[in-house]
Amino acid sequence: MNFKQGIALASALCALGGASEALATCDQSGASQADIDLWNIHGCWSDFYVWQAKAYDLRSGDWSGRGWNDACNVALEFPKHWSAAYLVSYGLADNVSQSFHGTVDYRATAEAASGNYHDSLYHSVTDDAGIFGRFTPRIWPWDTDRVETACPLYNRTSANANPGSRGGDFMHEGWHANYDKYGINNGDQGGHRAGPTGACTINGCDYFYFHGIGAYAYGAMWENNGTASRFHSPNQVQVEYLCDVADQPKSWVPASVRQTAASDANTRAVTRFINGPGYSCGSPRPW
Ligand SMILES: [Zn+2]
Repeated sequence: MNFKQGIALASALCALGGASEALATCDQSGASQADIDLWNIHGCWSDFYVWQAKAYDLRSGDWSGRGWNDACNVALEFPKHWSAAYLVSYGLADNVSQSFHGTVDYRATAEAASGNYHDSLYHSVTDDAGIFGRFTPRIWPWDTDRVETACPLYNRTSANANPGSRGGDFMHEGWHANYDKYGINNGDQGGHRAGPTGACTINGCDYFYFHGIGAYAYGAMWENNGTASRFHSPNQVQVEYLCDVADQPKSWVPASVRQTAASDANTRAVTRFINGPGYSCGSPRPW
């Protein structure tokens, strides 16, 4: 069987509860403090969002009514999406003695282009309130893999509605795309292992494959040797990105962006790893 003929992977079960029948509509009434604080750094940068829409292969039909024609309105989903991409592209210090990975790794995981990290993908958006995000592999050769992000990453009162967490889900779903490209089976619970098990408290668990700082040259995060000594799980890539935002950002990244990223990472660290807790932001590096 073609590996890509699998079912959609609901890869980030939401703490708000199980899948809901009722489709919510994302809250478009405003933005979280972290979103506002980052927005106040970059403002409405049209050259960037025009670039971002292409680099993430956004499609107008998916984003109409969500800021596609109102890209400078921080209350809406497309502006929040491109602001998260701004943080991915520009927000990291790339400190070779401290950062887990470089901007080049996180960009290649998040962006649409095919390469070592994944085959071509595109970013869509869903009103599903029961997940943070979802990766759906293409079925036909002429289709494209899809990454969706969901209302709990956009609704201003949701804990994960901040630029760091949104980018963190780009990493998580992008890593499902990496597994799809290389035929890696990470479990049958939305691309994760059944739980609770070990230190993992939810159904949908990963391992954290701890690696030293500098173990991966920048641009090499995609590499694995088929053993735990050189491997990443989706939640791990997400936590490493979030902690690089929290602990190794550019100096202009607002404190609210760093703190909300750390909160997301640290919650994941204690709930999603079988051999957990995973890495917690602020802990010493390297070890
Ligand atoms: Zn890593």
